[in-house]
Amino acid sequence: MKRVAVLGAAGRMGIAVCTAVSGAPDLELVAAVDPVAAGRSLGEVAGVLAGPSEISGSIDSVTQAGAEVVVDFTVAAAALENLRWCAEHGVHVVCGTTGLDERSLEAVRGWFSSSANAVVAPNFAIGAALMMRCAELCAPFILAAEVVELHHDKKRDAPSGTSIETIRRMQAARLESAAGDWAPDPTENEVLPGARGAQAEGGIHVHSVRLPGLLAHQEMIFGLQGETLSIRHDSFDRASFMPGVLLAIRRVSDLPGLTIGLGELLGL
Ligand code: NAP
Repeated sequence: MKRVAVLGAAGRMGIAVCTAVSGAPDLELVAAVDPVAAGRSLGEVAGVLAGPSEISGSIDSVTQAGAEVVVDFTVAAAALENLRWCAEHGVHVVCGTTGLDERSLEAVRGWFSSSANAVVAPNFAIGAALMMRCAELCAPFILAAEVVELHHDKKRDAPSGTSIETIRRMQAARLESAAGDWAPDPTENEVLPGARGAQAEGGIHVHSVRLPGLLAHQEMIFGLQGETLSIRHDSFDRASFMPGVLLAIRRVSDLPGLTIGLGELLGL
């Protein structure tokens, strides 16, 4: 049995992870950490009866409980601190928290060079990993691309980590090919500031929608001469992220250093 601790255990994703881990026959939930729910029963907060009876307010409970793998679904600033703590304490990490920028990820890469490994993925849904791979394959063949990402109304960061990672990979694929620059933006007069969205790597435009009723969705629109191609992924339930999270928990100890995204774990 692999011993697992969950950070952010009282959050929306943390609750889903506690449930998934406690239902997996080869995994044992040994610690649940979330300052906002410290001292409360895991059963009451997450409906999980297996595992620790109480949610802890301190990350120290990870080593006290002998956890081998930590799963982090918290907020970016906390996740960065948690990642460093895990590297210092030799505990492997699966991190799904978004909002970590390039500089932070470079720091994480340095921390996880010897004592422990980390898998950091902005999206653990298998369909989202396939979507990103498709976008990468399309990038050399299209003239221009825009990304619309749509999320629930409690999401704290924008644009989404998934959109940033998708665009980073598209831009890398574009640069590796002989395709040249993207078609220029024709906008001369942005009548309302922000109408064209934010510009990510390569100047690719990304538009963030936040609405009640949504969970996590992304549509990529690719423009070619006289035609467009759209690729869309929809997560309708947090259950969509769990197969990827469980896969990463099972594999992280075999993947040296920092692994970004699910692609390598899926052989994509
Ligand atoms: P959430 O409901 O706000 O949950 C985050 C929880 O972490 C909150 O209870 C928060 O407490 C707690 N927390 C804050 N600092 C902490 C710390 N130092 N130690 C332990 N817990 C701490 O958010 P969510 O919807 O679950 O999303 C969490 C993260 O996962 C976000 O970054 C989101 O974008 C990301 N996400 C990733 C995927 C993926 O597949 N990778 C999928 C969905 C969401 P407070 O409320 O007191 O801050």
